[in-house]
Amino acid sequence: MSVGKGLIFLGPPGSRKGTQAQKLSKELTIPHISTGEMLREAIRNQTPLGQKAQAYVDLGELVPDELLLGLIEERLKQDDAKNGWILDGFPRNVPQAEFLAKLLQKLATFSQQAINLDVPDDVIIKRLLLRGRKDDNEDTIRRRLEVYREKTQPVLDYYSRQEKLSSINGDRQPEEVTKDLKAVVG
Ligand code: AMP
Repeated sequence: MSVGKGLIFLGPPGSRKGTQAQKLSKELTIPHISTGEMLREAIRNQTPLGQKAQAYVDLGELVPDELLLGLIEERLKQDDAKNGWILDGFPRNVPQAEFLAKLLQKLATFSQQAINLDVPDDVIIKRLLLRGRKDDNEDTIRRRLEVYREKTQPVLDYYSRQEKLSSINGDRQPEEVTKDLKAVVG
């Protein structure tokens, strides 16, 4: 992988993009940056951000951009993110993708590559119900899938138009998915 490459992991909730991102981040020694994790930590610690974000996360809604954009900017400017990173769960809508593109222009010579883990809805629902996180109840799962289709699917189109999107079949054994991921990131 060339220095300064940003990998953007897309894919619906339950596509196991977090697990794959974590694995790849270790192998490539670049940070795994998950906005969902950052938000859950802020909620656990009841920081001002956590207090504002909690209701959105519990309902499966997107947390408003103004709460998140500064947070992601700060994170990507940290030292360990200089040689690359894997973003997991960001961008979730087109304005966030546009914000990221502008930020990367400002930051230096980062190239962006988006990867979609493709998994059918019935598999997602089964996986999420087994996972059992607080926002993994049936109503919230349904809402998160709707939000994914409404808000995040256009992000796939955004990167696809720029020829920056690769899609991988995520409905297979994790090792096979990892193998394909590595081939795609090069
Ligand atoms: P995740 O761990 O990526 O499934 O995210 C869990 C929840 O955190 C989502 O359902 C949203 O409520 C919130 N969230 C995570 N990332 C974002 C983002 N980029 N924009 C808005 N909300 C987010």
